Amino acid sequence: MLAGGRVTIDLGALAANYRMLVALAAPAEAAVTIKADAYGLGAAECAPALWRVGARSFFVALASEGVALRRILPKASIYILHGVTAGSAGALAAHDLIPVLGSPEMIALWRQRGQGAPCGLHVDTGMNRLGLTLDEAKALAADGLRGLNAVLLMSHFACADDPDHLKNASQIESFNVAKRLFPQLKSSLQNSAGVFLGNRVHADVARLGIALYGGEAVNDMANPMLPVVTAEAEIMMVRDAKAGETVSYGATQVLARDTRIAVCSVGYADGYHRAGSGAGVPLRGTGRAGGHGWIAGRRVPILGRITMDQTMFDITDLPDGAVRAGDFIELFGPNIALDEAARAAGTIGYEMLTSLGRRYARHHVGD
Ligand SMILES: *Cc1c(COP(=O)(O)O)cnc(C)c1O
Repeated sequence: MLAGGRVTIDLGALAANYRMLVALAAPAEAAVTIKADAYGLGAAECAPALWRVGARSFFVALASEGVALRRILPKASIYILHGVTAGSAGALAAHDLIPVLGSPEMIALWRQRGQGAPCGLHVDTGMNRLGLTLDEAKALAADGLRGLNAVLLMSHFACADDPDHLKNASQIESFNVAKRLFPQLKSSLQNSAGVFLGNRVHADVARLGIALYGGEAVNDMANPMLPVVTAEAEIMMVRDAKAGETVSYGATQVLARDTRIAVCSVGYADGYHRAGSGAGVPLRGTGRAGGHGWIAGRRVPILGRITMDQTMFDITDLPDGAVRAGDFIELFGPNIALDEAARAAGTIGYEMLTSLGRRYARHHVGD
C-alpha cells in the first residue's frame, strides 16, 4: 500500500444508525450534525447517504462548511451553528444557509444584512458558549422578533452524556421558559445523548451527531450503535527482542520477557494519539493500560511510545507466523471500540474521529 493505513467508513452502518435514532427521537425530526467534515468521516459521502435515508435538516458549524454542503445537497435545510459574522453574511444569503443567531450582535447583523432570509435563534441554558441569555431572549420576544424571519429556537445540553446530572433538568426547565417566549418557533434541544434521555425532553428537532457515527453518546451505557469507522495500520515488519531491551523513544518500555514486536506504519501524525502509548507518557503513570490493537483474532497491547509515523505492538502471545509484513492491525473498529481507543488516550470518540489524519487511504463502503 502507498498509505500507512486505511480507514473504512461503512455508509450502510451509518444509515442503520440513522434509522435507529429516528425511532428513538420520534416524534421529533431527526436532523443530523455534519460539522467538521461529518466528524472526520467525509461530508461529501455521508451527507448524501443520510439524505437518502430521509434526513432533511443538516447542522454544520461554519459558513464555509455550509457552502460546501449546499453543493452536495441543493434542497436540504442547512443550519450554521456559528451563526453569522460580518464576513459571512453575504455568503449565507447567497447559498440559502440558515444562521443560528447566538448573540445580540449577530441579531443586529442579520437584521441588517440577512434580507429577511430565515434564521434560527440560540438561547443559552447553561453552556456559556453560544446563545442569548434568557433576559436577552425576553427582550427579543417583547420586541416581537422585529425584522427577523426566525424558524427555529435551539439550545444545547452541557451534560446529557450523564443522564443523572442535575444540570439536565435545569436546562430543560430554562428551555421550556424560552419556548414559551417563542411559541411559534420549532424547538431543538437534544444532541445524540439528549435523545437517550427519553421523554424528559419535548422538542421538535433532534440534532444527531456522535451516535450516528457509531460513537458512545452516554457514559456507562452499553453502546447500541453499529461501528461505522474502522481504522487499520499496515504491519511493516515483525522483530524479536530480548528481555531487558527497551522499545521506542525514551526507552520507557523495558521488556519483561523475550518479545515479538509488530511495527505498523501509523503514528500520532495520523491522529493515533501519543497519549495512548503503552508506556512513557503521563497517562501511563496512572497505572492504567495503554491502547490495544486487534490482529489475528487477538487483542495486543501497544509497546512503548507511539511515534509520529509508527506504533509497536506486542504479538508474543500469537502463534508463530500469525502476523506478517503486509497484514493489517485494527486500531479501532468492530473489535476495538472507538471509545476504548479514545479512553486509552485520555480523550473521547469525537476527538479520535475528527483527528483522523489525511494520510490514511479512505474507503466508503456499504452504500
Ligand atoms: C456537535 C453538536 C451537536 C451534536 O452533538 P452529538 O453529541 O455529537 O450528538 C448538536 N448540537 C450542537 C450545538 C453541537 O455543537
